[in-house]
Amino acid sequence: MIASFLARSSQSKTRVATKLASPITGLRFKSTGSKVKRIGFVGLGNMGLPMATNLFNGFKDKADFIIYDINQKTTSNFLKDHNTDPNNKDKVKVAKSPLEVAQEATVIVTMLPASQHVEGVYFGKDGLFGALSENHLVMDASTIDQSMATRVAKALHEKGAKAIDAPVSGGTGGAQAGTLTFMVGSNTNADFELAKPYLEKMGKNIVYCGTNGNGQVAKICNNMLLGISMIATSETMNLGVRMGMDPKLLAGILNTSSGRCWSSEVYNPCPGVQENSAATRGYTGGFGMPLMAKDLRLAVNAAVDTKTTVMLGAMAQQLYNQMAANKDYENLDFSAAYKWLSENAK
Ligand code: NAD
Repeated sequence: MIASFLARSSQSKTRVATKLASPITGLRFKSTGSKVKRIGFVGLGNMGLPMATNLFNGFKDKADFIIYDINQKTTSNFLKDHNTDPNNKDKVKVAKSPLEVAQEATVIVTMLPASQHVEGVYFGKDGLFGALSENHLVMDASTIDQSMATRVAKALHEKGAKAIDAPVSGGTGGAQAGTLTFMVGSNTNADFELAKPYLEKMGKNIVYCGTNGNGQVAKICNNMLLGISMIATSETMNLGVRMGMDPKLLAGILNTSSGRCWSSEVYNPCPGVQENSAATRGYTGGFGMPLMAKDLRLAVNAAVDTKTTVMLGAMAQQLYNQMAANKDYENLDFSAAYKWLSENAK
């Protein structure tokens, strides 16, 4: 499956490169010719807030913004940051519901925790779905299960809307820097091309993964590997420290040796090894424990559905489940696996 996915992905990239030679028609939908006046963003959490900021900065001269989050603190912060600039006065509006976002914006990004939140925002009372039409381009960047992503796309396509799944990798640092990788599932190359100028304001690598839902396949596989490698890195760092090794020195050696991985090099779970890591900040911000537990659950469920063996994935899921269910860990970054191992698993 992965081999055929990679083959399709590389064919598609060739197609994308050819297409890029033609100019992108700014904010005008190629298919309808209608002008985008407002861009909507739903879900301004750890990832959504910096993503919306980059999108806003990239398009503020061309379009107004409408935002929505059930947590009013996040929308007030965004409003405070952007509407107080005299050049941007009244450029941002806070919606009362996702429906209002769809009524006012024709380009919409959603960045929500899990499948049930996506279902509520799209299909619930006062959801986006009530006002969607052929004039809309909707990009869901949340990490959710493949079947929900295909269900959303199918329903939106039936209304004539353009819909892609575009989950991301790169963490909150990548969201702030605008260097995220977007893994895009889209039934048509045309919808992918329409979405690209918006995604490029928030990310560096925009990868076409195949039909709707395939963005989620890539993301779920990536995060299973990440979840496993974070535990492996945590075990390794914990063992080395207990054997008397300086953690910075150990991390430096790992990172120039064959044990190197993203968790050891970019996001080391041992506090003090990196200046700006979640671990050094007391495991605050970053990628929450319940979200990693959710992603491992998505991977294990997909493995059951496809009769695939994922032994390490299933073991990692159990550990993240335990940490996410513990009140001292549930609000911490997933790299607190190191803290858990060093404090609880003696
Ligand atoms: P988060 O919990 O920080 O933010 C989610 C936001 O959605 C919150 O502001 C919340 O109030 C809002 N929300 C929840 N339900 C809502 C509803 N019904 N209507 C409107 N808003 C609602 O999560 P996050 O870390 O920003 O992650 C978002 C998604 O991105 C998740 O699917 C996650 O798996 C994925 N992701 C996260 C990271 C990371 O490092 N944090 C990295 C890659 C992917």
